[in-house]
Amino acid sequence: MRQKISVREVGLRDGLQIHPTFMPTADKLAWIAAEAAAGVREIEVTSYVPPKLIPQFADAEAVTLGAIAIPGLTVAALIPNLRGAQRGIELGVHKLNFVMSVSETHNLKNVRRPPADSVTDFRAIVELVKSQPPDKRPIIVGGLSTALGCSYEGRIAVSQVVKYATELMEAGADELVVADTVGYADPRLVREVFRAVLAEVGATPVGAHFHDTRGTGLANVSAALDCGVSRFDASLAGLGGCPFAPGASGNIVMEDLCFMLDSMGLDTGVDLERLIEVRKIVAHSLPDIPMQGALAKAGLPRNYVSGARTQAA
Ligand code: ZN
Repeated sequence: MRQKISVREVGLRDGLQIHPTFMPTADKLAWIAAEAAAGVREIEVTSYVPPKLIPQFADAEAVTLGAIAIPGLTVAALIPNLRGAQRGIELGVHKLNFVMSVSETHNLKNVRRPPADSVTDFRAIVELVKSQPPDKRPIIVGGLSTALGCSYEGRIAVSQVVKYATELMEAGADELVVADTVGYADPRLVREVFRAVLAEVGATPVGAHFHDTRGTGLANVSAALDCGVSRFDASLAGLGGCPFAPGASGNIVMEDLCFMLDSMGLDTGVDLERLIEVRKIVAHSLPDIPMQGALAKAGLPRNYVSGARTQAA
């Protein structure tokens, strides 16, 4: 049995949130359906922020409901606050990704409160989630952004990451995600942070969210794998540039991540050739969006036998 790794598409949220052109709802749903058909089983499809704040997510309801109709797909959405959690529960979304910054300055700029107040908000969200009947209760994820560096503060103390990870776990998070929001991390730092967090949060699963802004993305995945992490966020074509680094790469590239894992003998469940085909939907819909990806440029190695194919055979 090959070890299963969960790869989670975040491009529709992380990738599109800073893109100025609205992607038509039908195109978002075509992207979601095609990527699910390629074998990606979890997709963060939108963000429940007020549409006035980010017009790209004005169609959050339609995208959520369309995605939920796809069999076998876990549909996740980002929530900044309790109101977002309420919207998600009303829509029947499967997973709520709450996010706060470990960096005090980043959290103040982003949600106008210190991190400690965000933990208090998270407690109220968990209370709301856990008060739902079991069949209407989404999975609640506690996300820690800027955990491996911050564009305002630079290095972030590992002890602060562990502190907030522990607090979110104790508040009742079903899962945690530790994020290198601005692509500052390197494999040594990844090992240090993930080992420290995993040592404190017991059985709570911890996912990794890396950006490839400085070219260290897949090396960081490898380091996190060494620590026992088996859940990774990525975005198709590496969508998701940083507003502070114009032109830089965004999230780690889903296609390259899946190729590396597959090549290492790990089971992502993803058909690489079908995944590459999904890029056409995005390129056609948003011709001006920068698309990254080494696998799509170079193609699969000669005589490459994809793990997903071997299993299907
Ligand atoms: Zn991100």
